[in-house]
Amino acid sequence: WEHVKVTDPEIYEVILKEWERQEYGLELIASENFVSLAVMEAMGSVLTNKYAEGYPKKRYYGGCEWVDVAETLARERAKKLFNAKYANVQPHSGSQANMGAYFALAEPGSVLMGMSLSHGGHLTHGASVNFSGQIYKVVQYGVNPQTEVIDYDEVRKLALEHRPKIIVAGGSAYSRIIDFKKFREIADEVGAYLVVDMAHFAGLVAAGLYPNPLEYAHVVTSTTHKTLRGPRGGLILTNDEEIYKAINKAIFPGIQGGPLMHVIAAKAVCFKEALTEEFKEYQKQVVANAKALAKALEDRGLRIVSGGTDTHLMLVDLNPLNVTGKAAETALGYCHITVNKNTIPNETRSPFVASGIRLGTPALTTRGMKEKEMEIIAELIVKVLKNIKDEEGNIDEGVAKEVSSQVIELCKQFPLYEGK
Ligand code: PLP
Repeated sequence: WEHVKVTDPEIYEVILKEWERQEYGLELIASENFVSLAVMEAMGSVLTNKYAEGYPKKRYYGGCEWVDVAETLARERAKKLFNAKYANVQPHSGSQANMGAYFALAEPGSVLMGMSLSHGGHLTHGASVNFSGQIYKVVQYGVNPQTEVIDYDEVRKLALEHRPKIIVAGGSAYSRIIDFKKFREIADEVGAYLVVDMAHFAGLVAAGLYPNPLEYAHVVTSTTHKTLRGPRGGLILTNDEEIYKAINKAIFPGIQGGPLMHVIAAKAVCFKEALTEEFKEYQKQVVANAKALAKALEDRGLRIVSGGTDTHLMLVDLNPLNVTGKAAETALGYCHITVNKNTIPNETRSPFVASGIRLGTPALTTRGMKEKEMEIIAELIVKVLKNIKDEEGNIDEGVAKEVSSQVIELCKQFPLYEGK
């Protein structure tokens, strides 16, 4: 970063400190990952300079011959990776991918049905503070309070009652495999489109460890930066030509202007990496690590929502240790362990306090950590949680020092970008 160091020392310091935070901390946020240097180089390239409104071979700007190659490669690789007929790789984010899908399928004021935020859905699945909750008439489903898995009978009942135009399946804090076939049957019964938002588990789908939603959904949306380990961005897939045309119009000129060609090139690199055998092995380890971490936490007295995980993430109920999500997030953060507080099913606290934390293994697995390290990390987490002194998440200084130095030692054994 020698140029930014000279031009803007303040931003240089931010980059340096953030690199240090990532290198010497345990990143357990389920939606985060560490991209390869190849992905990072594509993002930091001259492609950032190029305007390319439109789509390959149909642009509104000259000089697009090379960015056309990049976008075509990204599309072709995405299609191969997910066995899809059509791909739009232009959404700037997962939220814009969802907006593009909804705009392509339903008029404003239509009924949209999605999983509620408090049960694991995403903001864009109909939350009242989000565009989806403001533009559409929203019906929200959730998990069964006993089993803590999606209640398909409730989904069907609500669908029959409200006749949605779009049903969204997928979520941000749901650790179980979703039955897409059931969702499609319900959608067909009421004449709805099924949109699957696979943002969280796209990497697992790519590796064949999670059912491919393309087999059932009219449209599949995703981010590219979570388990998929690419640049921050969105992706839309479909097998239906008419829907594809509507999606293309909805994204540009509907909701976006010029595509981020440097990000699209980085998406192409990410998809190429995801097509390798190595990536499959990586995803297998992500799931094995999540299962190992969940079990190690359970063995130490915590409760895992729904009794475990099938994926890269888990929701941990902190009630057995009488700690709030907010206090846990603060105390763990103080010890260089990054997590996010999360509401759990049957939540009794506000979302700002919450009774749980969400943990994910994609980032730690990228560093090369395995089951053995998950056991050590569970031990460290529980040690912190047991030494929280108050509601604010202050913890005993001696314990904080001890845990922090163990975290740093562990990180040094699994260097991230250090020395590369
Ligand atoms: N969909 C799901 C399921 C997500 O978890 C997220 C992000 O967390 C998004 C969509 C939105 O992605 P972005 O943050 O890129 O807008």
